[in-house]
Amino acid sequence: MFDLSDQMTRAEALAKMQTNEKSGLSRAEAVRRRARHGKNVLIKAKKKSLAGLFFSQFADFMVLTLLIAAAVSFFLAFFQEEKDYFEPVMILVIVVLNAAVGAAQERRAEQALEMLEKLQLPHAHALRGGKEVRILSEDIVPGDIILLSTGDIIPADGVTLESLSLAADESSLTGESNPIPKSEAAQAPSPLYAGSAVVAGRGKMLVTSTGMKTEMGRIAAMLAENTAPETPLQKRLAHVSVVLGTGALTVCLAVFLLGLLRGMPPGEIFLTSVSLAVAAIPEGLPAVVTVMLSLGVRRMAERHTIVRRLPAVETLGSTTVICTDKTGTLTQNVMTAVAFAGDKRSLLTAALLASNGSDPTEKAILAAGKSCGLDREQLTAASPRVSELPFSSERKRMTVVVRAASHYRVIMKGGADVVFGFISPSPLTSELPRMAKKGLRVLAVAAYETDTLPPSPEAHPFTLIGLIGCRDPIRPEAEKAVLTCRQAGILPVMITGDHRATAETVARETGILTDGRTVLTGAELDHMSDEALAAKLPAVAVFARTTPAHKLRIVRAFRSRGDVVAMTGDGVNDAPALKAADIGLAMGEGGTEVAAAAGDMILTDSDFSTIVAAVEEGRAVYRNIRRALHFLLSSNIGEILTIFVSLAMFSASPLTPIQLLWINLVTDSLPALALGREAPEPDAMRRPPVKPHESLFAEGLAFQIGCEGVVIGLLSLAAYMLGCLSFGGEGVGSTMCFLTLGLSQLVHAFNMHTSRSLLRVNPFSNRYLNGAFLLSVLLQTGVVLLPFSRALFSAAVLSPGAWGVVAALSFFPIIFTEIYKRLMSHS
Ligand code: ATP
Repeated sequence: MFDLSDQMTRAEALAKMQTNEKSGLSRAEAVRRRARHGKNVLIKAKKKSLAGLFFSQFADFMVLTLLIAAAVSFFLAFFQEEKDYFEPVMILVIVVLNAAVGAAQERRAEQALEMLEKLQLPHAHALRGGKEVRILSEDIVPGDIILLSTGDIIPADGVTLESLSLAADESSLTGESNPIPKSEAAQAPSPLYAGSAVVAGRGKMLVTSTGMKTEMGRIAAMLAENTAPETPLQKRLAHVSVVLGTGALTVCLAVFLLGLLRGMPPGEIFLTSVSLAVAAIPEGLPAVVTVMLSLGVRRMAERHTIVRRLPAVETLGSTTVICTDKTGTLTQNVMTAVAFAGDKRSLLTAALLASNGSDPTEKAILAAGKSCGLDREQLTAASPRVSELPFSSERKRMTVVVRAASHYRVIMKGGADVVFGFISPSPLTSELPRMAKKGLRVLAVAAYETDTLPPSPEAHPFTLIGLIGCRDPIRPEAEKAVLTCRQAGILPVMITGDHRATAETVARETGILTDGRTVLTGAELDHMSDEALAAKLPAVAVFARTTPAHKLRIVRAFRSRGDVVAMTGDGVNDAPALKAADIGLAMGEGGTEVAAAAGDMILTDSDFSTIVAAVEEGRAVYRNIRRALHFLLSSNIGEILTIFVSLAMFSASPLTPIQLLWINLVTDSLPALALGREAPEPDAMRRPPVKPHESLFAEGLAFQIGCEGVVIGLLSLAAYMLGCLSFGGEGVGSTMCFLTLGLSQLVHAFNMHTSRSLLRVNPFSNRYLNGAFLLSVLLQTGVVLLPFSRALFSAAVLSPGAWGVVAALSFFPIIFTEIYKRLMSHS
């Protein structure tokens, strides 16, 4: 290994790295070096161990309060005559259980994210044992020869061995945003840095250092550990928790004072207030949200979408515009040349000489050539290429200079209307509209001959040889996905580099271009101000003949109107638009590494219908988070109300602090998590998107939560009173109250299953909810049924009649919410 600042010739560098430019390292040598130098990765901040996660749960306001409560309870017991330490011990047990559940949840979320990192491991093309192979970037070792092309991210530090107009963007390292040209001068090869992007050209590099030994590695080592930032929704929920928490603490203070006034012993009333505070603060919410987001991420991975940034999952649910590419996303990107204008043989001969066979358009030319008995290799052997002005999405053409027997031949191939700008008049040009209207991608091929090597090959007029029309079939699911998109209130927009007429036909066939909306071209866009563009947007369905720079303008214009924009992209120049969009969707199939790094999500199959599926999942996650919020808050309100009212009315709390903690921390958390497993509702894609800043409590959710909380509270109080009056007194009443409060919440969890009536759907279709329900019911009733725990929980033995009353009362939330749903759906 050596420092890139050392000046070395190419030969010296190759000798020093003990490698061969033509064949690369042998496989055996690569394995040896891999063992010596390790993986080519940046070592990330150390993960917390499970024990670390567990103890970090204690740095939480609620847990600290509970620990103080345990200490107070311990002292109280200590000074009493019969020393009963059950209460402090039980509080500790519950705290520990709670921390264990918290740690397990965090670990699961982490694992889901780790799995995603594995899915998106970068690859590189290397020469190994004389062959070009695609390997994982992490397997690259010093001495490897790597082939680079536009759009790659340079995987390690090294020097250029070959450069065809190679240029790199090193802004991630140096902040310098202009592309840096990389020369292949044998005397002073240019340095290349890991993490920078190849923005133009092709080339070959010699790897000199990998992993933490690279410049990027040095920076990474200097940076402090990176913690995952909170998502906007998590921030909003944290805010909700603080507001509710403050309210709850006020209530607890009131309870404490009320208890004192009513002459309850201070120790007891303190513990009751603390457990009430625990009941009221929805401390589990942020963790539940993380779990739900990571579940969403997992489900999206099954539907061909890799999420790179967690907040994107929530943003997806509120997407209002999807800007999509045409080729490969709406169409299959499998081109076949089906129409020709001009002499076919000379047309294909010229086209083959100006092709590299790398992209689907050129593959179509290769195949058409073959069917006429023309072979690119043979043709290039007879007329070798002297120079190339490469194809790019901006230029939409490529030009080559080849040497014929006694002269040079300059051939241009590109988008027909683009090439027409370089030719002398020809009758063949009139064929373009006819071909483009059929939805074909039309390429024109033009050429001229010259005796001397031209310094700027495109400066001379060309003669048109002919046109090639390529068909790219529309993806079979595209039309349906576009329709779903519309029903979901999302505007589909096509942005393509292709010709206006071609784009228009494909847009009509897929349903993107409907009556009343129009096509705008890049050239027209150039003459519009940003304001004019923003005003025109709702009427535009297709942008044709655009460059990546136009995409950026379009994204910005949509965003200035308050739209939430998802934008697809695959090329290196799409990166700014992907970053500017609310959701950048990078193409996995045929996309560049640069685009993948700029995107929020990667569509592994590049299919438009995958975007729509991802939106559906995003909406489901949002809905599930609302479900958990709904469940936890209405339950908490029920708990507060029970305690508060009974203190005010009877000067006694029907529940011991331990019972309250048990319901809140043990039996409640399971259904909340199970609600994260709810599948998307059938009408999820028939509703308009969530407004970006819409409250989580929109559509009357706050009111509903309040009503249901009151019902749960009243049911528990009713159980208490019935127990006291008709089933054997205070002890039985308290036990019935404990059971009803816990069980009615568990039953209530099923109300969250659907926004419609439970009679209209299968209420048991979420098996996680069924499981959570059964387990929690067992936990809740078990402590009363088993003699051992019955004593610990100071519960009484209930008669079958009392059990019947508990069961009937606990079922009531279903009836209430059914009526509520019915009334609300008619209002
Ligand atoms: P879409 O937006 O539909 O996915 P695109 O913007 O990716 O398409 P480009 O690949 O940038 O389209 O191509 C733009 C235009 O350049 C095409 O319409 C075609 O006319 C022309 N073109 C495409 N590939 C080549 C090529 N290999 N050589 C010459 N011209 C090409």
